[in-house]
Amino acid sequence: MDDRQFRNAMGKFATGVNVIATEVDGETYGMTANAFMSVSLDPKLIVISIGDKAKMLERIRESGKFSVNVLSCEQQEESMRFAGQKQFEDKFEFDELAGVPVVENAVCQLSCEVYNEHTEGDHVLFIGKVNDLAMTEADPLIFNCGKYRRLEAMEEVK
Ligand code: FAD
Ligand code: NAD
Repeated sequence: MDDRQFRNAMGKFATGVNVIATEVDGETYGMTANAFMSVSLDPKLIVISIGDKAKMLERIRESGKFSVNVLSCEQQEESMRFAGQKQFEDKFEFDELAGVPVVENAVCQLSCEVYNEHTEGDHVLFIGKVNDLAMTEADPLIFNCGKYRRLEAMEEVK
């Protein structure tokens, strides 16, 4: 099977869209990522997966901390900005949660410290211990079959 076929298959699995953010030597960096999962309740752990060519990889290793920001359906531009899909002239202002930069108005902000890392193939899985979180009531941004989408409520099954 070729890479495109594998990506097309993986793209059938609808996900939210996150911006991973971290700070190194006073500089803040963001990267769009949809590879994310809740791992453990005790302790509270999550996992993200960062490609070995992404600059974010060494940035997280240096910092030892990162945030996961689940984007709202109003934040497609933030996803494009931090995936390098669109260039913006303005400076992006981050908020802060428990000493880690976070994206304002995200549906959910998780402030994490690196708990463990595992290299698997061409990605590194970072296990994050969640030290603090914040949420809003907005609807999430959806990514499916390579396209950004919105949630649509289904009729209740009786
Ligand atoms: P850079 O190329 O340095 O940063 C990425 C972009 O963010 C650049 O355009 C940069 O200008 C901008 N940026 C960074 N910091 C700031 C700042 N402080 N202010 C303003 N702009 C800033 N890759 C994965 O490894 N794992 C995933 O799970 C994953 N999921 C993805 C999901 C989607 C929906 C998309 C579209 C992409 C996904 N990617 C994923 C790909 C990843 O987002 C890109 O490869 C990204 O460009 C890698 O960024 P980088 O760490 O190399 O950093
Ligand atoms: P796409 O068709 O490449 O993505 C569909 C699905 O394929 C993704 O949701 C993901 O599950 C998987 N995928 C894509 N690239 C991958 C990679 N390098 N490693 C592991 N899994 C991958 O969607 P698109 O709109 O063409 O994506 C835009 C860009 O973002 C592409 O360059 C893509 O490689 C990158 N991306 C990377 C990851 C990742 O590294 N985990 C995830 C999503 C998108």
